[in-house]
Amino acid sequence: MPAINKNISHGIPASSGIVIGKAYVLDRHHICILEHPIPPDKIESEIEMFREAVERSNNEMAELRDKTKEEFGGAVPLSIFDSHTQILNDPALLQEVEETIEERGCNAEWALKLLLEKYENRFSKIHDGYFRERLNDIEQAITKLQLILINHESQSLADLSEHVIIVSHDLTPTDTLQMNREMVIGFAIDGGGATSHAGILASSMDIPAVVGLRNLSHTVRSGDHLIVDGNSGEVIHLPDKEQFLDYNRRRQNYLYFDQEVHAQKDLHATTTDDHSITIQANIESSDDLRHLVEHGAEGVGLYRTEYLYLNRNTLPNEEEQFEDYKKVAEAVTPYHAVIRTLDIGGDKIISVAKYYESEPNPALGLRAIRFCLKNPNIFKTQLRAILRASHYGRLKIMYPLITATDEILEANKILETAKEELGKEGIAFDEDIEVGIMIETPSSVMIADILARHCSFFSIGTNDLIQYTMAIDRVNENVAYLYQPLSPAIIRMLARVMKSADDAGVKVSVCGKMAGDPRYAMLLLGLGQAHTLSMDVHSIPRLKRFIRSISMEDCRALAKKALELDGASETEAFISREMAKYMVVAERSDPTNAGV
Ligand code: PEP
Ligand code: MG
Repeated sequence: MPAINKNISHGIPASSGIVIGKAYVLDRHHICILEHPIPPDKIESEIEMFREAVERSNNEMAELRDKTKEEFGGAVPLSIFDSHTQILNDPALLQEVEETIEERGCNAEWALKLLLEKYENRFSKIHDGYFRERLNDIEQAITKLQLILINHESQSLADLSEHVIIVSHDLTPTDTLQMNREMVIGFAIDGGGATSHAGILASSMDIPAVVGLRNLSHTVRSGDHLIVDGNSGEVIHLPDKEQFLDYNRRRQNYLYFDQEVHAQKDLHATTTDDHSITIQANIESSDDLRHLVEHGAEGVGLYRTEYLYLNRNTLPNEEEQFEDYKKVAEAVTPYHAVIRTLDIGGDKIISVAKYYESEPNPALGLRAIRFCLKNPNIFKTQLRAILRASHYGRLKIMYPLITATDEILEANKILETAKEELGKEGIAFDEDIEVGIMIETPSSVMIADILARHCSFFSIGTNDLIQYTMAIDRVNENVAYLYQPLSPAIIRMLARVMKSADDAGVKVSVCGKMAGDPRYAMLLLGLGQAHTLSMDVHSIPRLKRFIRSISMEDCRALAKKALELDGASETEAFISREMAKYMVVAERSDPTNAGV
């Protein structure tokens, strides 16, 4: 039986890479808030102080937002600031704090503490990843106000003068964007899932990160040595000599490999036995387009257009959307872009009050195509904008969360109306625009052969397919252990879709997180006809390089064997052994490994 190392914590890998260094523990949770009585004649000025703190916090957020937009463009989703601003501008919340100050005669930071306790009690009864993330946002916004009110010199990450790994209970956008990035080499965070703010920011900054470590920040002290492996999700606290040497070797290999793959980013992904695989990018905003060329993307396999609709008080009109999609169509030429229609709902909530619906199970609610079919005018506006933009480059339309044929038929009817209208208005569009669907629910897998008769391509959304097949909320860290891409259930689902598509002559791509991970790429290619993989831009050069080192024959043999295995751990071990053969190829070409 392998030895259990007590100094290794297992979290969720959020941003790839390995770092070894000293910890810097952010101790925000230990600020001490006390209650002070406020005499009646000072209540007014206490409330005034509270309002000033809100204003200062809002200003700091707005400044950071601008700075981030200038520095990162679309690489960091600006919506992360909007959630804080929304909380700090919620009239009900502000009024409640002011009433507590007045009625209880207490200081503002104490009133905020009481409010936070109330939210924690209320949200603790809801076991939903989305609400946990919102509670996290509320905690961060309230803590920031308390720090301003008590004039607390918060640990300033801007003043860091040596290389450190940030260890913290959580990480706010403010922490991340104000820090001296030259000095921060990694993150080890107690809370969150791979899709939490800390995870999104770390990967857009290309800094290795592990999240969901539960209470690591309670055991680590600033100055302790740490290893953060953002590839496996392991964090080693006070490594011994053997661990240090082992991870140092892994790190050197990773760095060398990373440099080498970047230099080859423009080479096409052709397997050693001559099968051509198209590697595309997933984008969330037209601002992301500038990263395509930098990373060697061959078009866009998934444009998550819902980000255009989030964190605003009005819906984007046809003209705004047309301009945005036109930019995409032009930028991807000579390749194509797949524009996914609005996938709102689940953990992506539209804030336009009229359309906002609170649901007990948002992941199973009025999401994606269901929302669009219930709001045909919103849907038609988007379809008109996509059609108009299709005149300026190669665009394809993709419907998300399809579960039944009727949904495609109904959506196509609205598409036909949009086409007829444009025709009558004399507006040019691509009359033969391809229409495909996302396969991301177990029901769509089971009837893929039928669905194939009604569309021209499938794109497998493994993120949701795993969520819905394993019955786990994909943003809930408590059930993250069941998020198993290699579960036999998932492998069989994938095999079934590929076979149905193959039989029907429908093209298949994969655009979930699995597509960008070399551990799964061999399986995906070996299972069938997935000749396009679409992923986050940072994964592209590495995956292209990996595919150039493998043969389709080996992929098929691997997939055949994987289909016979009993469970995810067994399959994981088998795939790791197979992968090691290819990783050896990478290591051998590393001159720094000579003689090792
Ligand atoms: C998926 O579900 O795998 C997918 C790509 O879509 P999203 O992550 O946007 O739900
Ligand atoms: Mg999805």
